[in-house]
This record gives sequence, structure tokens and C-alpha cells, in this order.
Amino acid sequence: MSERITGHTLLVSLIATPIRHSLSPTMWNEAFAKNGMDYAYLAFEVGNEELADAVQGIRALKIQGSNVSMPNKQAILPLLDELSPAAKLVGAVNTVVNVNETGHLVGHVTDGTGAMRALASEGIDIKDRIVTMTGCGGAGTAIAIQAALDGVKELRIFNRDDEFYANGEETVRKILEHTNTKATLHHLEDQEAFKQSIAESSVYIDATSVGMKPQEDLSLITDPAVIRPDLAIMDVVYAPAETKLLKFARENGATIAFNGLKMMLFQGAEAFHLITGEEMPIEHVESVLFK
Ligand code: NAD
Repeated sequence: MSERITGHTLLVSLIATPIRHSLSPTMWNEAFAKNGMDYAYLAFEVGNEELADAVQGIRALKIQGSNVSMPNKQAILPLLDELSPAAKLVGAVNTVVNVNETGHLVGHVTDGTGAMRALASEGIDIKDRIVTMTGCGGAGTAIAIQAALDGVKELRIFNRDDEFYANGEETVRKILEHTNTKATLHHLEDQEAFKQSIAESSVYIDATSVGMKPQEDLSLITDPAVIRPDLAIMDVVYAPAETKLLKFARENGATIAFNGLKMMLFQGAEAFHLITGEEMPIEHVESVLFK
């Protein structure tokens, strides 16, 4: 790295807290090295209090762009000059582009496009399909909005009766107002409706934190009857690599069932392309991160 960095090296940042555990710096710096790009990526421990100064710093230091994570994904919205259509609808930003170093900052959200690319890479075209989802937190909202923008015919979102449910109502309202998708929100407690919905769907996406620690022993699908060979299943969780849902799917004959690793890699690749204009070498990055 020390041999690579010169007076010409361009900087991309990540602003979030806590952030020291993040895989993003490894992901991006490995990609820069592999592509022979004169860039560096650094993580900055920034919370809401320092956020305005940090955003001004992106402009002043001519940082090329930045990733944004919790707790700044929503707080950054009023500090930017422009939002992509998806970021505007989702109400969150995970990528900022400093357009031509002019200080004009455009906010994007790539979690949804990352999820759509993950589905496409498994041969799944969601256009004109019925999709059942669980979860309407950060990941669920980004996926639901992008699926609607990409032309999914019908989206049935199930969430338990918790603090995220109202968020789901807002997401459905936005989808109905701004896209041609038929979207509905249902209580996950209505298990008969949930099973019926999956039976009528081509794709099931679990966008909840179920399956990840400390909920690694849980799966929102428990009835083998709902697993059909032609039902594609995507779990946004990638640690553990095989969640309870994916184990259950494998044991009951699902042919396409995969974790959130691809979504994670593709959302990074989308951000990489937005900021640098280059393609992230995904296979190389994956081999380094998950060897
Ligand atoms: P969040 O806290 O915003 O939302 C959590 C969601 O999970 C809510 O809808 C909540 O109702 C639901 N939930 C939690 N426990 C539940 C339970 N026991 N039963 C039913 N529903 C339950 O979180 P988030 O930011 O949306 O992240 C959700 C998951 O997605 C996390 O595991 C996160 O690591 C993962 N994620 C993956 C990627 C990726 O690129 N693969 C990107 C973002 C998030």
C-alpha cells in the first residue's frame, strides 16, 4: 500500500460509527490494487454530530465519493445537493458521489440495486412476477422500492407487529404513488396469509435480521410444504453463510436458495461504479474476503 500511495492518489471514504469491523476498506482497496487504480479507501468514525463537518470535508478535500452507513444513512439527506430517484423514495443514502470534484454531492442507495443484481445473477428476473418479502427495515425498504422501480408486478410485504410496521406502510404508500407495482403490507402473525402468499409467488426474499446472531436458530419459514423447487429464495443475511432458512430450504428441495453475500458484493460494486466509473473485480474481491 505505501508504495502505491502518491501525491496523485484519489480518496474514497466511508463515514459511519461503529466502523472498525467493516469489510468495505478491504473490499475497495483490493479492487483498486487489482484494477491498478490510483485510489485509496479509508473508514472514518463519524456519527450524526460530526456529519455536517464531514460532508463539508468531502467537498473541501475533493474526496471522490463516500460510502455512508449507520447512523448517517438518513441524517445525511439534507446535507446533499441531489438525490437519485431510488434514494429519494427509500429516504436513505449509502453512497455519495462528488461529481467531477465540484463539491456537488449526489446521494444514491445501492442496497436495492445490489439485491436485484444478486437475483439476476441467479437467473431470476423479477419483472412481472409476484414476490413475497419479510422485513421492512433498512434493507427491506431498499429492496422493496428497487423491485418496484424495476417492474415487479406485485409485492407482498410481511412484517411482525413491531416498530418497523409503520415504516412498511410508508413504503407501500410510496410504491403505489410512484410505480406501477401492486404493493401490500401484511402482519406476519397471520401465518395462513403468509403461506398462501408464498404459494402464489415466484420469489421469497427474507430481508429481516432473522437467521443472524442472536437469532441464528430462527427461520420465518417453518413449514416444508411452502418450499417448492420453483420458488427462488434469497436471504439478506450472509453470516452465517447457511442460515436456518437456507438449511431448511436445502433440506426440503429448493433449487435456488442463496444468502446475502452476492447482494453485499453487488451493492459495493454498484457504489464503486458510481464513484469511480470502473467495474469492481467482484470475483477477486470475493476470493480475498471469503477465502
Ligand atoms: P433493521 O433493524 O432496519 O430491520 C430489521 C427487520 O427485521 C425489521 O423488519 C424487523 O421487523 C425484522 N425482524 C427482526 N427480528 C425479527 C423476528 N424475530 N421476527 C420477524 N421479524 C424480525 O435492519 P436492516 O438494516 O434492514 O438489516 C436486516 C438484515 O439485513 C441484517 O441481518 C443485516 O445484516 C442484513 N443486511 C444485509 C445486506 C447485504 O448486502 N447482504 C445489506 C443490508 C443489511
